[in-house]
Amino acid sequence: MSLESNIPALFNPQTVAVIGASASPGKVGYSVVANMLDAGFQGTLIPVNPTRDEILGLPTVKTIEALPEGLDLAVIVLPVAGVVPAMEALARRKARAAIVITAGFKEVGGDGAALERRLIEICEANDIAMVGPNCLGLISTGGKVNASFAAGNALTGTIACFSQSGALCTAILDWAQGENVGFSKFVSLGNKAVINEADMLDSLSDDPETSVIVGYLENVEDGPHFMKKAPEVTRKKPVIIIKSGTTAAGAKAASSHTGAIAGDDAAYTAAFRKTGVVRAENMAELFDYAQAFSTQPLPKGPGLAIITNSGGPGAMAADATEKSSLEVAQVMPETAAKLKAVLPAFASVANPIDIIGDAPAERYRKTLEIVAADPNVHIVLVLLSPTASAEIDETAKAVIDVARTSDKPFFVNFMGGLRIKTGQVLLREAGIPFSVYLEPLIACAEAMYGHYLWTTAAPAAYPDVARNQAAARKVIAEARSTGATEIVEFQAQSVLSAYGLPTPQTALTTTAKEAAAAATKIGFPVVLKIASPQISHKSDVGGVKVGLASADEVAAAFTAITAQAARMRPDAKIAGCLVQEMAPKGCKELIIGFKRDPRFGPLLMFGLGGIYVEILKDISFRLAPVTRAEARAMIGEIKSYKLLAGARGEKPVNLQALEDILVAMSQMAMDFPEIVEADFNPVLVNAEKAIVADVRLALSE
Ligand code: ADP
Ligand code: MG
Repeated sequence: MSLESNIPALFNPQTVAVIGASASPGKVGYSVVANMLDAGFQGTLIPVNPTRDEILGLPTVKTIEALPEGLDLAVIVLPVAGVVPAMEALARRKARAAIVITAGFKEVGGDGAALERRLIEICEANDIAMVGPNCLGLISTGGKVNASFAAGNALTGTIACFSQSGALCTAILDWAQGENVGFSKFVSLGNKAVINEADMLDSLSDDPETSVIVGYLENVEDGPHFMKKAPEVTRKKPVIIIKSGTTAAGAKAASSHTGAIAGDDAAYTAAFRKTGVVRAENMAELFDYAQAFSTQPLPKGPGLAIITNSGGPGAMAADATEKSSLEVAQVMPETAAKLKAVLPAFASVANPIDIIGDAPAERYRKTLEIVAADPNVHIVLVLLSPTASAEIDETAKAVIDVARTSDKPFFVNFMGGLRIKTGQVLLREAGIPFSVYLEPLIACAEAMYGHYLWTTAAPAAYPDVARNQAAARKVIAEARSTGATEIVEFQAQSVLSAYGLPTPQTALTTTAKEAAAAATKIGFPVVLKIASPQISHKSDVGGVKVGLASADEVAAAFTAITAQAARMRPDAKIAGCLVQEMAPKGCKELIIGFKRDPRFGPLLMFGLGGIYVEILKDISFRLAPVTRAEARAMIGEIKSYKLLAGARGEKPVNLQALEDILVAMSQMAMDFPEIVEADFNPVLVNAEKAIVADVRLALSE
């Protein structure tokens, strides 16, 4: 037995005990028993209560000791002080799984956190799969289990849902009832002390009752576990997650909520992307995605066909499609010919296909049949404006019929309110994504196409970076031996060289005369930079002079730079000046680097540098290691990409060289966990080459 092997006991238990069961309606200990009965639980349900003989018609037992050995599931609704002793007693009864609904643990800090640690110890030592504490409980429609204090049960369906917030669980359940959406499993994870999101994903990935997994998270509990599990699951079924704590204010609210220390949002976005998780930005999106993914097949291409009874909405749909990663499909000539044969003369048979304002349901039906069969069409978007002659219900039925026989996803936008209501109800009941607005439908189709690409992508191939790890290790060890936590430019250049990263020709000089000689050797113009292990931002102390064109200028600059640095930073040990080859004029300045995220590891960054970087924040992120394709995507993703690709007659910069830098840096980040931050700022690039013109590495303490 292992803890993981006991997870199924949560969803398909035979024997369930409710510890703290109550006979008073309104109490949580009552609701759980009542919900289990309402769910039609088929196994043995045992309320545990020290004083009562019977609760809701069920005989009780007075103590945990009286429970059968090896019971599957215990639901604990005791006051907080009683939870640890109860779990100890359950461990002696060899319980396989538990749900701790009681709050007052890690989320309150102090003693609560200590109690939670104790719960974890007991569960881990005894292989008890525990959900919670501080949760609403869980529902398993297949197992006829409602071990929660939710107001009501879930309908049966194929969506599995887990949430870190119990309140959100109640909201989702309520929404789902209104929308006729059902669930296979519904789990309130609470503090995730033992069972966390990665365990959930793992246990749901092969669950035949589940076609789509949706989740609400405030944090990911175990980064490496999640990174390993999530991609395995997302290749089998879509995982849609909404993650709060994305703003500083949100993060603060989340941390006081379940005691989660919310991580950095860019890292989460990168983690979801790398693992194929579909991220929903808000609740509306979560609901829309959950419904669309669970009812419609994935589009096998980006081609979207718009069928409309009016020009304006058709044009708007085409605009929205163009703005997305989807395309307004070019219908085949055969399709156009077939459409011409059945549509009135004024109709437009080019996409958007305008079947005109007087279109009856039958015209929709014929058009949909023809269009859905076109191999260039991967997604069908049906639009209807409630004209006087529009047959709302009949059109809805026509869409439902055609969608049923098609292997392509259908989305429906009836604009309006009052008149279209009945059509909306019919479509929703049939499980066809419907909205009175276009945008959510396009967003769903886009997310589904993105997921299709993920499921069909070849496995990531990480490039083999030629490198001399020993040489890099030596530099790092030397820096460490001096107690330094930072490696500044000159030494850091050796680490970069060991990874084949291009750096400008550089000499460390200790006198003005030496500097002038080195410059003559390198060739003018040169750059002079202050060299001190303590000065990481050289310009701040006037420590960088570019464009020095003669030996005299270099000598003078040496004296000026070292004197000013000594004056401004009396604490710093000044080694002299670096004399450096100057990058040619007209290079673009980029910032490339990484920061080690505590959860997900090295988060690589790429962006346009220069003085506006902080304001423009035009940066893309990926988690290491990156493939060449990911490196290319990072470069292509920034808004100023057009500047790199050659704007206004400029030649494009050497994009391949930038890719090389990203890939080599990614490898360096993987090889040296002690490098916690790297800053290549700037990387100077033109059409010929890229060089790392400044670099700073930060080491762990
Ligand atoms: P800092 O420690 O202040 O960041 P840098 O080495 O980045 O010092 O130099 C400051 C600026 O000088 C860079 O942002 C870049 O614009 C310019 N610069 C530095 N090195 C070179 C070089 N080798 N060629 C051309 N310009 C350079
Ligand atoms: Mg710099």
